[in-house]
Amino acid sequence: MVVLKAASPPVPSVNKINNGFPCSNGTIKPLITPSPSSFINLDQGDPEVFRSYWRKKSEECTVVINGEDLMSYLSDTSNVCWFMLPELREAIQRLHRVVGNASAGMDKHIVVGTGSTQLFQAALFALSPSDSPIPINVVAASPYYSEYKDEVEILRSGLYRWGGDAREYDKNEEYIEVVTAPNNPCGSIRRAVANCEGEGRVIHDLAYYWPQYTPITQQYDHDLMLFTFSKCTGHAGSRIGWAIVKDIEVARKMTRFIHMSSIGVSKESQTRVAKIIGVICDSYQEIGSSLDPDELFFEYSRRKLRERWEKLRAVVDKSNLFSLAKYSKAYCTFTNHTSESYPAFAWMKCKGSIEDCESYLRNLKVLVRGGKRFGVDQKYARVSLLSGDDVFNEFLTRISNATRNRE
Ligand code: PMP
Repeated sequence: MVVLKAASPPVPSVNKINNGFPCSNGTIKPLITPSPSSFINLDQGDPEVFRSYWRKKSEECTVVINGEDLMSYLSDTSNVCWFMLPELREAIQRLHRVVGNASAGMDKHIVVGTGSTQLFQAALFALSPSDSPIPINVVAASPYYSEYKDEVEILRSGLYRWGGDAREYDKNEEYIEVVTAPNNPCGSIRRAVANCEGEGRVIHDLAYYWPQYTPITQQYDHDLMLFTFSKCTGHAGSRIGWAIVKDIEVARKMTRFIHMSSIGVSKESQTRVAKIIGVICDSYQEIGSSLDPDELFFEYSRRKLRERWEKLRAVVDKSNLFSLAKYSKAYCTFTNHTSESYPAFAWMKCKGSIEDCESYLRNLKVLVRGGKRFGVDQKYARVSLLSGDDVFNEFLTRISNATRNRE
């Protein structure tokens, strides 16, 4: 029997949990509190920030999997995506109904993937013409998510190739545009921008279109939308993403790609994600109004990110070393309030004579991702705001100290 919990080993003592993080074998790995001389890693967007919420919900999120469970490759052979568990499909539809961020009704096809990383590649495969003598160009407006270019180029595919910045694309050829909204790295809400004669197909990557990061202003209903559980709740290790697809042929081809690359997606992960989504939706639908707001996941996570942004802006404003984008307020149909965006990353621009933001921060022993990886210059760098509290606080301390040392 395997027992899966949201974020903790079987019976950890509270004291132990507070001094480390639990491993799957039940041991506690001590937390390495960053010392002033150690490097801190804010390069990857590893979502540690919501851990304390899920620690409190550990018992509720427990999933029991017996020895004979989940053995077949197959899940629902009447569905285009035959390896997706029906309970996951229902949970995803329910979550989108509760949040109101995307249309995922029975007229849509849902394809589950091992993270949205696998689905991005499946989408490229499905949208590329199979009979063209030349690869189709894949474009995205800079600054674009740094992994797209590498994912497009890694296999040197004959089907598709990297076509660069969508705003500069002027070929009279078919293309695929990737639109990330809100955008990674800069948090802005985007729409397709390529303006050329060729026919375009669009992949909408909505990894961060959840209420903790940005006001939900409309229910999206694009042809092909990608979501990831990694950024929705922070359970990146479960490696679950999903695509909502209008065209059944595109959904079939995506499913075929996943069949060829991994013959489906772990059912243990699907079961766990369905359970956690159920816990979130139950808290809103059944007990919502009577709960302390911090008991509700999106309220908790939005507060957490808002506090980080407020602290970061205060330190950055004082520093005179960097600038940060301002985000306009918008009415959120999920919270029924007007609010700002609190993106998962800070897109920092160095001021004055500092030409290379990544190197400047590396001298402060802070690892971040420089602008070049996102298709822009090195004055910019992306800093993850999804780390644990101690790493985030150490980051603020280092910027404050750097400011003091320049005065
Ligand atoms: N798209 C965007 C915009 C992302 O930021 C990420 C994660 N960093 C992904 C896709 C991939 O997510 P997953 O963990 O589901 O592969």
